[in-house]
Amino acid sequence: MKMQRVVIAGGGTAGWLAAAALSQQLKGVLDITLIESDEIGTVGVGESSIPPMRVFHKLLRIDEQEFMRSCEATFKLGISFEGWRKPGDRYIHSFGMNGKPTWLCEFHHFWLRGLERGIKSELGDYCLELQAAKAHKFATSPQSEINFAYHLDATVYAKFLRKFAEGHGVNRIEGKIKQVKQKSEDGCIESLLLDSGRSVAGDFFIDCTGFRALLIEQTLQTGYEDWSHCLPCDSAVAVQTESVSTPVPYTRAIAHEAGWRWRIPLQHRVGNGMVFCSRYMSDEEATSKLLQEVEGKTLIQPRVLKFRTGRRRKAWNKNVVALGLASGFVEPLESTSIHLIMTGITRLMQLFPFGGIDPSLVELYNQQTQAEVEKIRDFIVLHYHATQRDDTPFWRYCKTMSIPETLAHRIALFKSAAHAFQAEGELFRVDSWTQVMLGQGIVPEHYHQVTATMSDAELIQVLSSLRNAVSQAVAKLPAHQEFIERYCKAGHAAGA
Ligand SMILES: Cc1cc2nc3c(=O)[nH]c(=O)nc-3n(C[C@H](O)[C@H](O)[C@H](O)COP(=O)(O)OP(=O)(O)OC[C@H]3O[C@@H](n4cnc5c(N)ncnc54)[C@H](O)[C@@H]3O)c2cc1C
Repeated sequence: MKMQRVVIAGGGTAGWLAAAALSQQLKGVLDITLIESDEIGTVGVGESSIPPMRVFHKLLRIDEQEFMRSCEATFKLGISFEGWRKPGDRYIHSFGMNGKPTWLCEFHHFWLRGLERGIKSELGDYCLELQAAKAHKFATSPQSEINFAYHLDATVYAKFLRKFAEGHGVNRIEGKIKQVKQKSEDGCIESLLLDSGRSVAGDFFIDCTGFRALLIEQTLQTGYEDWSHCLPCDSAVAVQTESVSTPVPYTRAIAHEAGWRWRIPLQHRVGNGMVFCSRYMSDEEATSKLLQEVEGKTLIQPRVLKFRTGRRRKAWNKNVVALGLASGFVEPLESTSIHLIMTGITRLMQLFPFGGIDPSLVELYNQQTQAEVEKIRDFIVLHYHATQRDDTPFWRYCKTMSIPETLAHRIALFKSAAHAFQAEGELFRVDSWTQVMLGQGIVPEHYHQVTATMSDAELIQVLSSLRNAVSQAVAKLPAHQEFIERYCKAGHAAGA
């Protein structure tokens, strides 16, 4: 059986990313059709990204400046977590490395030794990206090693990708899918029937229909693993506001009594939203709190979104692969959803069933997808669980809820010996685990004793030279806004 006709159902970020990548990388090999419905529209959020997006864009040969200008994008160096450990507290999880590791242990062991020897500093003092974020500074060049991501306008991004994909031969059909037809012999999808009466047949289908999961769930009934016991937020309300100040190079994640609020600064506006748990906060309370707390005039009506954290039991089932929200949703705290779409697409391109669907391919795809998303889940649960907050029922729940064994092990390891690790194929690095563990208030009891082979004088010298190198590098950087003006200023009218 030859797999040539690929049909993508849905044209949000997931659908258009899949269309863009497959059409560009497998040009002439696959015949790609995308169906989307303007009437249904897209989820309209998803504006904060993480650094691997740059790698994916490079793969597609997307020009960074053109992308940034089109999508009103700003630079992102990390996330500012406010009130997560306790109200009034703040730490930044940046995309940078903490100091310099040795082959025996990570840098933070030396920093911990320094603290014990009375050398006062914060771990973040040794991280360029973190200090640049704090100082609202940024610059990049082909030689620069600064690690960064973007804030982008989600709706424009899908349009940008659509133009790219159509330029590479993707055939777009406007219409609502009203019926999914399966083959009688094996239950595989045969065609999608639109409300216009048109039938679109395919060999392989990619379900990008968002939370509806029209093919993978409504038709194939694949099943869903629910994670709401350890990721209890299930609702969000989003609103866009006018910018009242120059954009900062980080996303803000501000904890509140029943979840958290995001603030994502773009060039032309700010994206805001409240993520909350409906057991502890109503839609009305969340909306009113959001409207009270945002700065600047609102540009749209607030929109409530409902979700269930978890993952589709099989991301690939029969001749369907689900991407984006159709495949599950961890929750937006660490901006990982678009990244998971990109790794899903990459994996699909690597394992594409050109000669027909072999169960071994499907199994490998599903195993890798599960392993990847479970590690991300653990990292996000960490933020909720490792807290000193007990001021509201929500935080008391988070503090005492049962967590995955894999995360419990990581926390125990860090508490006892300051060890953090990046497992094989894992997205988050040791630096991320360390910044968040310390930021959430986990204090290690011991650290690696190779640090004791250094005299106090040597330790002072090493720590201060690393710190100075970071502050000197930050001092040379221009302001974030200044760099945007020079590098990627979008051509919008003021306030538009
Ligand atoms: C509150 C919230 C905040 C988020 N923040 C972030 C973030 O900061 N960073 C991040 O990486 N991700 C974030 N995400 C996730 C991100 O929004 C999604 O991963 C991304 O937008 C992809 O969505 P999608 O394409 O899967 O779905 P959608 O955008 O919902 O697209 C679904 C598509 O399917 C089409 N469709 C559906 N049914 C039919 C039908 N019957 N017929 C025809 N077409 C149909 C729709 O028209 C649409 O084109 C967030 C998500 C939520 C809920």
